[in-house]
Amino acid sequence: MKRFWTLVLMISLAQFSTGQYVTKCYQDHVLNNYFEYSYPGFQEARKTLFLKALDYASHHSVGQHAKQQSPDTIYRFPVVVHIVYNEAAENLDEQLIQDQIDVLTRDFRRKNADTSDLRSIFLPVAADAGIEFFLADIDPNGNPTNGITRTNTSVTSFGSITSLDLVKDSTTGGKNAWPTDEYLNIWVCDLSIPLLGDAALGFAYPPIEAPNWPSELQNTQEQYEGIVIHYKVFGPNNPLATGLLSIADQGRTPVHEMGHYLGLRHIWGDAGNPLFGGVDCDPSLDDGFDDTPNAGNNSQATGCDKTKNSCGDGDPNDLPDMIENYMDYSTESCQVTFTSQQAGLMRAMVVIGRTGMADVYVNDVRIIDGKFRENGPSTNLHALEAGKSTIYPNPSADEITITWPSDVKGRDISIYSVDGIHVASNIPQTKINTMDISSLLPGHYIVQIEFTNGIKEFIPLIKQ
Ligand code: ZN
Ligand code: CA
Repeated sequence: MKRFWTLVLMISLAQFSTGQYVTKCYQDHVLNNYFEYSYPGFQEARKTLFLKALDYASHHSVGQHAKQQSPDTIYRFPVVVHIVYNEAAENLDEQLIQDQIDVLTRDFRRKNADTSDLRSIFLPVAADAGIEFFLADIDPNGNPTNGITRTNTSVTSFGSITSLDLVKDSTTGGKNAWPTDEYLNIWVCDLSIPLLGDAALGFAYPPIEAPNWPSELQNTQEQYEGIVIHYKVFGPNNPLATGLLSIADQGRTPVHEMGHYLGLRHIWGDAGNPLFGGVDCDPSLDDGFDDTPNAGNNSQATGCDKTKNSCGDGDPNDLPDMIENYMDYSTESCQVTFTSQQAGLMRAMVVIGRTGMADVYVNDVRIIDGKFRENGPSTNLHALEAGKSTIYPNPSADEITITWPSDVKGRDISIYSVDGIHVASNIPQTKINTMDISSLLPGHYIVQIEFTNGIKEFIPLIKQ
């Protein structure tokens, strides 16, 4: 435990003495040290899951679609925002909350207007992650909701570095999570730290419910899954994000934390600390991706400096630091992108680490409900266009035949896994089509048949 406290003290003193440095994100500086000492298996398990997701992304279309063009399969997460307030100013407006959700979707879909600020050298790796967010409209009891809870607390600040999860517990002045395997929980509260003020803006846990995690983490941390954001930096143009916090006034602290929630690491790999003039270019202390240039430290101290190149290595083709990346600490007004590999990893994490939470849309049609919808009243979109076509045999081990009546013409047949991953397709020539599915893994699939009139039909398929 000693190293943990030393580290905390060092960070605190540095912030205190310079008076101009906020820890944008607690993630790796403090939180993981806490985990490392409380749960010795944590770092190893996180690394294992990260590598698993990298591997998954490289072998499935879920990771590869994220390049250049927008992916066909979009994941939409139901979000609940827990406003835990002591003073009236902390009780944020519903509009600001909705605006924040819109910013999350905008940035994860690369629909932000300021994407044009990205230097052209990085355009080839800029990616639409194909992940969206919406305020949940059904609560855990199946009742309609606006996706926002409001809790008045007597706790003046939840920024205690020794007990960051108090805001997630009703018995300690916070608010209990909605089921964290169904809803993406965001807590918004006062994270200020005594004496230091607005020194921490947010933190998130990476997926810890996935297989291979230490069982004590799965059992004890499940109710803490989600992200926590300081109320002054939640929402774009939050009127409270002034002074030192003007570096974080674009609603991109939640974008950054959502990156962590979906498994991303900081772009500089948490090596050198610019506070102490530190630069660490050891490639093994990297963020794990090839398409982000090696960076030796974060960019907070240098703001929006596009000449920053902390790891030049004397190579004339070396790229500068990617200060435009959401996973840096640069000023938010110059953070404009995720990379293709970051997007691919997050999409893989949606499938293997946040399994079943998101609704899955293929070509703008919801084909799979997230768990929370399955528990509540739901329009069964799967059946909307059902009844025209047939598949036989079903279940099948090798070949299927797909037919439809002669009054419609087929344009495309695509097979998706239940995670929305495209696994096979066929351009139909006639109204009777055969497809070889022998190479598919046994399990459940969805066959999408698109007709020339634009109508789509979805039929469940079981591969034996
Ligand atoms: Zn972070
Ligand atoms: Ca470099």
